[in-house]
Amino acid sequence: MNAPRPPLLTLDEALPNLLARAQPLGVTESVATFDADGRVLARDLVAELQVPPQDNSAMDGYAVRCADIAAPNATLRVTQRIPAGSHGRTLGPGEAARIFTGAPIPPGADAVVMQEDGEPQPEDRVCIKAVPSPGAWIRRSGEDITRGRTVLTAGTRLGPGELGLAASLGCDRLTVAARPRVALFSTGDELVMPGTVAPTDMAPGAIYNSNRFFLRALLQRMGCQVSDLGIVPDRREATLQALADAAGPHDLILTSGGVSVGEEDHIKPAVQALGELHLWSLAIKPGKPFALGAVRRPSGQGTAHFMGLPGNPVSSFVTFLLLVRPFLWRLQGVDRVDPVRQPMRADFDWPKPDRRREFLRVRRNGQGGLDLFPNQSSGVLTSVVWGDGVIDLQAGATIARGDTVSFISFVEWLS
Ligand code: AMP
Ligand code: MG
Repeated sequence: MNAPRPPLLTLDEALPNLLARAQPLGVTESVATFDADGRVLARDLVAELQVPPQDNSAMDGYAVRCADIAAPNATLRVTQRIPAGSHGRTLGPGEAARIFTGAPIPPGADAVVMQEDGEPQPEDRVCIKAVPSPGAWIRRSGEDITRGRTVLTAGTRLGPGELGLAASLGCDRLTVAARPRVALFSTGDELVMPGTVAPTDMAPGAIYNSNRFFLRALLQRMGCQVSDLGIVPDRREATLQALADAAGPHDLILTSGGVSVGEEDHIKPAVQALGELHLWSLAIKPGKPFALGAVRRPSGQGTAHFMGLPGNPVSSFVTFLLLVRPFLWRLQGVDRVDPVRQPMRADFDWPKPDRRREFLRVRRNGQGGLDLFPNQSSGVLTSVVWGDGVIDLQAGATIARGDTVSFISFVEWLS
């Protein structure tokens, strides 16, 4: 009889261990704000001015003094015109200023009357039809941002909104975390690159290398500088060579395939020979074979991180999102790396419990519930395209139609 296998590591045990090893790289660079989309801010951004810089009009209309308008239909003299980009003079009693959206409120004025409520009269006068309340249609200086406030903190992932905010504070450049340098290679003698052999000419047993395409795209989305090292043959020497060569100039070596216990799986012993394996094999489905380790760099320059993903495409995809993604964001200094889990209704039954925690590919339907992709096999990549997320199902749990389940959306997870 075989010796009992040690229990697999749970995701909840593995993740803290993995994240504890993902010390931020601490290398920063300055980039143009225009080019900072998707990067991670490395220094707090403190406002050096108020936004808006001064009180200004929220409407096209008339700047007025409320004291002049005790009742509807008061008539005022229009003594100045203030378009956006200019500024006016002090407004005297009985006067109104024609003003446009964004233009500064002239001293003395305490409200804006929208142009629909002001009826122009002969000889530069205006009849104000409604009584304004003080402060009406005035955007106050600093109502968005006050000077000295920390507007974005180090570790923030920058997107379009953050870039606009930084620009509103006058920042044309931002200090961001350096892109992690990642070496990517696929293992497997059965792999063929699309474009090298036509689909009709594929030899028996050959398959196209699909992992290389989605892993590269995922790495780029996580802000990485990717060295794509292609396909490494299923041979011990070739594997050792590829790992040793990649360790020097990279922060992380990411591989797919060859990480199980088959005779053709050389990744694990090669990492052990060149460094250390921290953890291996998780109680998740898809994705059991997953390895985390370190590979020594030449002559005392420390180690490169190593992560080995399973070869089955869906396993590779899901373990990337569960484990590599948070690791890469941490290397760039991001604190919150957990995806948001949303309670949703399952519109299907999943009666068979599994000993491993499952990540089922599902799609939101028009009735506010989730439909299940019928084939949950770890080789069926169609499931991640048909699906728009996964259900995170605890080990040993089942689902009955109508149950509330925990959903992770690909929209968030892939960003
Ligand atoms: P392995 O983890 O190397 O045992 O591979 C498990 C399964 O995934 C096998 O059926 C492989 O053919 C398949 N596989 C491995 N690498 C890739 C890849 N890069 N693209 C597509 N399928 C792969
Ligand atoms: Mg293989």
